[in-house]
Amino acid sequence: MSTFPRSYPMSGGDDQHSYINNSSYQIAAINSVREKTRQCIIEKLDLPLNSDLGTFRIADYGCSIGPNTFHVVQSIIDAVKFKQVDAKNEISLMPLEFQVFFNDQPNNDFNTLFRTQPPSSEREYFSAGVPGSFHGQVLPRNTVHIGHTSYTTHWLSDVPENVDDKNSPAWNKNYIQCNHSIEEVTKSYKAQFTKDMKRFLEARAEEIVPGGLMIVLGQCLPDGVPLFKTDQGILVDTIGDCLMDMAKSGLTSEEKIGLFTIPAYFPQFSELKREIEKNRSFTIETMESVRHPLEDIPLSNQFLISMFRAILSTIIKEHFGEDVIDELFDRVAKKLAKYPIDFKECEKNVTYFLLLKRK
Ligand code: SAH
Repeated sequence: MSTFPRSYPMSGGDDQHSYINNSSYQIAAINSVREKTRQCIIEKLDLPLNSDLGTFRIADYGCSIGPNTFHVVQSIIDAVKFKQVDAKNEISLMPLEFQVFFNDQPNNDFNTLFRTQPPSSEREYFSAGVPGSFHGQVLPRNTVHIGHTSYTTHWLSDVPENVDDKNSPAWNKNYIQCNHSIEEVTKSYKAQFTKDMKRFLEARAEEIVPGGLMIVLGQCLPDGVPLFKTDQGILVDTIGDCLMDMAKSGLTSEEKIGLFTIPAYFPQFSELKREIEKNRSFTIETMESVRHPLEDIPLSNQFLISMFRAILSTIIKEHFGEDVIDELFDRVAKKLAKYPIDFKECEKNVTYFLLLKRK
């Protein structure tokens, strides 16, 4: 199994324009579930919001460099405060103090995160950075009252077994992701995803207090839909095709492409649900697909290219070298100008909202 380069594009932020584009895709979804998140906290949070609680602790797992994470934690705090005021049965309600743990991989640009967070005069919480992989425990047991994560759990902790081994039936050939077109490859990705989801939930079960909540927002596929039929799947396959074209022109090699695999996996909705149901420490309070606000706006090839340039630049650079990026994405733009993605014909991925309560 090859070692997975532990760096992520959203942390690198090497392409500001694209970064903003991608970040706004995610914040659009985050904003669209703001009211739902608020209602869930008000209805489902099962903790006495009085002075016995001490500090109210929130963790955002895979927070990146902001600003989305700041919006998320503020809306969680607003909902908790609203619930506290609403809890009329409590006699003396001391205002709660909030502490927020911002978690991401150690190479995340935490400096940017802390430099750009709201100034302390406006901030209602104490901040702490927590570097480390969320596939393991990153905080002490029984620390967190509300955990949150968005657009993170499709990232795997490692390249799945054998997908970069030319002699294995699970070799992903010249594809650069699991697009569900080779059964053995899908199996290998699924196995890694299952392992990672289990570790993610087990770690959160340690950290979150009984009665506390874990909110997960992310992207998956509708049941029965392979990734290669979606616009995003087509785009990433086009990036793979362009890399092959570059190999033919001697700008990289087929061998290098055969060894390159994006460690991200998008399960289908029921598949994801099954993995979550396996965990016995949480009850599933809500798991539903939500409309992504950009669903109604016609996507453009350019938007998708720019979004995926942001997502994949760091990983591509690490494998193929700094200088392939401009050439590669120029080629992708040219190819899609010639053969545009037919967004009306493509399948759409699903944005899901999941609320778990710690038993
Ligand atoms: N939550 C933010 C950022 C999503 S981008 C938003 O919704 O806008 C995905 C983030 O997850 C990246 O910052 C990446 O570094 C982080 N990430 C991926 N795998 C991780 C892991 N194992 N542990 C911690 N963070 C991880």
